[in-house]
Amino acid sequence: MLTHRNLLFVLLPIHAVLLAAGLFGWLAWWPFILLLVAHLALITWGSLDLGLGFFLEAHRIGKPGTLALTYDDGPHPEHTPALLDLLKKEGVQAAFFCIGRQVEAHPGIVDRMVREGHLVGTHSQDHPMAWGFLPAKQVVEQILRGRASIEAACGMHTSYFRPPFGVTSPNVARAVKTTGVQVIGWDVRPFDTTFRTPEKRLAWIFSEKPKGTIVVLHDTIGPVVETTKAIIDRCRAQHVPLLRVDRSLNMIT
Ligand SMILES: [Zn+2]
Repeated sequence: MLTHRNLLFVLLPIHAVLLAAGLFGWLAWWPFILLLVAHLALITWGSLDLGLGFFLEAHRIGKPGTLALTYDDGPHPEHTPALLDLLKKEGVQAAFFCIGRQVEAHPGIVDRMVREGHLVGTHSQDHPMAWGFLPAKQVVEQILRGRASIEAACGMHTSYFRPPFGVTSPNVARAVKTTGVQVIGWDVRPFDTTFRTPEKRLAWIFSEKPKGTIVVLHDTIGPVVETTKAIIDRCRAQHVPLLRVDRSLNMIT
């Protein structure tokens, strides 16, 4: 498996040999520079793709043949209640990875999520733009404050966490270990905030059957209700059970 630790184990000695060869004039500098660039490219790829398990292990594949709906970045004062109405009507339970400051602004919506049987996890307190570059201490603070906001809103202690942007780093890995949270990833990402037509969004989720088992959507955009309804209809037509992500992963304690 390609992990940061494995990569260092293999590449560090080669870096050292090529650096020495460059310094002593045995070889040109370009092999050293080329390897350095390739190494940096792999680190960037690993930090952006949560599914690789490059810096940390994330739960990202659910029960085969099922689909779990997960939503990031809420709660939104308008779109999240509309989505909750739909999920209630359809009898589907989902997971919401909420931003702490949004939770503080709309605690009643988070309380409703829990009362209606949805899973709530933290998505950090502020969703910082520089998330991938934060020191471990600040990442820990973001996770703990995000979790405390949820607890204050609904009285529930959550141990589930999804990193902002799905970005990880050695410091995020350290903070996850310190806080003991379980990281929930995904294996279907339809880029619902980018692809604006319903057809395009659905094409990213389904070929004939769903392309994966955990889909990440955002309850901060209006089309989330329409997209969710289309997903539910399609899953029902194809007899694909919709599971809450922790049940799909058998993580209930
Ligand atoms: Zn996010």
